[in-house]
Amino acid sequence: MKASRRAAPALAGGATPVKALRGVGASVAEKLHARGLVTVQDLWLHLPLRYEDRTRLTPIRQLQPGVPAQVDGTVEAVERGFRYRPLLRVAIGDDSHATVVLRFFHFRAAQVAQFRPGVRLRCFGTPRPGQHGLEIVHPSYRVLGETEEAVLGEALDPVYPAIEGVGPAVLRRLIGQALDLLPDAATLELLPASLPGLAQLPGLRDSLLVLHRPPADADLAALDAGTHPAQRRLALEELLAHHLSLRRQRLAQQALSARALDGPGVLARRLRERLPFALTGAQQRVFEQVRADLARPTPMQRLVQGDVGSGKTVVAALAATMAVERGCQVALAAPTELLAEQHLANLRAWLEPLGIQVAWLAGKVTGRARVQALADVASGQAQVVVGTHALMQEGVAFHDLALVIVDEQHRFGVQQRLALRDKGPAHGHVPHQLVMTATPIPRTLAMTAYADLDVSAIDELPPGRTPVQTVAVSAERRPELVERIRAACAEGRQAYWVCTLIEEPEDEGKPGQGMKLQAQAAERTFAQLSEQLPGLRVGLVHGRMKASQKQATMRAFKEGAIDLLVATTVIEVGVDVPNASLMIVENAERLGLAQLHQLRGRVGRGAAASSCVLLYQAPLSALARQRLDVLRQTSDGFLIAEKDLELRGPGELLGTRQTGLAAFRIADLARDAGLLPQVHALADHLLAHAPDTADRLVARWVGGASRYAAA
Ligand code: ADP
Ligand code: MG
Repeated sequence: MKASRRAAPALAGGATPVKALRGVGASVAEKLHARGLVTVQDLWLHLPLRYEDRTRLTPIRQLQPGVPAQVDGTVEAVERGFRYRPLLRVAIGDDSHATVVLRFFHFRAAQVAQFRPGVRLRCFGTPRPGQHGLEIVHPSYRVLGETEEAVLGEALDPVYPAIEGVGPAVLRRLIGQALDLLPDAATLELLPASLPGLAQLPGLRDSLLVLHRPPADADLAALDAGTHPAQRRLALEELLAHHLSLRRQRLAQQALSARALDGPGVLARRLRERLPFALTGAQQRVFEQVRADLARPTPMQRLVQGDVGSGKTVVAALAATMAVERGCQVALAAPTELLAEQHLANLRAWLEPLGIQVAWLAGKVTGRARVQALADVASGQAQVVVGTHALMQEGVAFHDLALVIVDEQHRFGVQQRLALRDKGPAHGHVPHQLVMTATPIPRTLAMTAYADLDVSAIDELPPGRTPVQTVAVSAERRPELVERIRAACAEGRQAYWVCTLIEEPEDEGKPGQGMKLQAQAAERTFAQLSEQLPGLRVGLVHGRMKASQKQATMRAFKEGAIDLLVATTVIEVGVDVPNASLMIVENAERLGLAQLHQLRGRVGRGAAASSCVLLYQAPLSALARQRLDVLRQTSDGFLIAEKDLELRGPGELLGTRQTGLAAFRIADLARDAGLLPQVHALADHLLAHAPDTADRLVARWVGGASRYAAA
């Protein structure tokens, strides 16, 4: 019965639900679904994390520590003991006249009974140095029959990312079944070898088969590094699909209409005249680009990249005046209340003298104030509305929203941006969108991650900034730093101490765990520094504090009532405190360059010479040293971003969190950056010559893309 159901044409191929596979009942299906594995195609794309080579035997004498190997051996001795916990040690030897110890900490009585001297075993594992020569902890093993001529594997064994509740053997079997349903190459392949650049890579079907069942002679090193042609082929297709989905989204946007905000720019001119500074060349250029976009009757979708302190806010304010001049409303959303508050203060100072009403709508605006703010927004009385993503919640209705400005885009997902934009389809128009980010992104990456947006860069800082002097110092020299803080504060300056603690991979499944540890580390440092610096007023902010508490502390720091602020990376996008001239960052070697650069941007905002001390745990690897050197040598955010990509380390430049893109299954923007020019060229080609193929690719890899197009 089941078999015939599986064979039904409607279910053939990748769309077949995993439920249709043999051995998948409701409970296994649920476990698979929880990991996003819903169809057979999802299983095809659930690629091994690594491989085990059971295609050959290694003589015990030739085992090397750290190198996984398969051995055949005869049990020579068994020792069962207890040292802190139960322990089983089995020594096996072979005709290379060497022995290796198999060591078990968890075992059943039946297992112990298997290991009688003289029994032959086949084992696989990674040897490491033990008390008496090499040992293998918890090898996988199988007892060989007395006369059994055990055959060797023909392909490398895939090791899949674990799925809770589905054992590795079951998962392997299910993926095997899924692979049996792979259609022939002609049916499966959407990117024929005749397309530019594809002749050098294997086809999709071959790539999948190679990755799930690599032949014995496959290049294991390339597979481990993710650079095998089969992996590149899949990454290429995936990147292409994502890129196409964003391009599609953009085309769909351009078919919509928006209010042409093409006024004479009187308000903008008055604002510029009132500013205490002249715009930089870059600010002027970017504003002109924005203004040209706004004047068109199609929605602007522009990303403005500008290093911390490059002066993005005033460009946003100028853009806002263009909407106000046409009688429309503007919404400005920031990722944190602190940052939104700062925008509010700036915009009020700049716009209210021009007769523009600026409303405030954040989570903490409640009761009557909220009712009033909502009413003002709905009636159009409030021309500019500043807030956090509370702005994106339902229940906020605008009178005539024509421009949406989102600050620090990487904290918002594409979905959130769309939600805010959807607030404005008044009179058949959608609002223009201006996205501002302080994370400089190399051009090729921006073209992929933000293919739905035009990108402008404010690549020049306002004059008069003294560059931040950056040094890298071993954590052993911490006492000197305490003195340095004392000296800086004695001169009336303020300082930041940034505690960082990176989540260990095991914490991945437990969001909040990392934040908890970070908070604890910050609390410890706070206690220590308070004790070591008795004359100073020390404050503490971390992510586990109440928002009101955090803000009160940040405000006190801004007002000069706190000398030294101990903080976690929550201050990354934070308040502008020009008097702060010293920053110390712990475990700097473990942070991404872009993140360090952003942190550093919190100092050097005033006229005083500022410094940033990057504390690291010695010894520093050559790569880590190189990475920290980049920060010492330049303060150009774009250059830093390029280097970050080149010298990739922990703390990736572009995680999905930053791009708001769906997670990639296979591609890795940093590792596969070299593929991007080809991705862009292929996308152009497909959109021009094979739009149906483009649709099918998007459907295969991104799925929900049609949601964007329709949004
Ligand atoms: P960011 O790009 O990091 O958001 P801001 O908009 O907060 O930067 O600007 C940083 C500081 O520089 C603010 O105090 C702002 O008033 C000031 N500023 C902006 N543009 C100029 C300029 N052209 N000349 C001098 N100061 C400027
Ligand atoms: Mg800003």
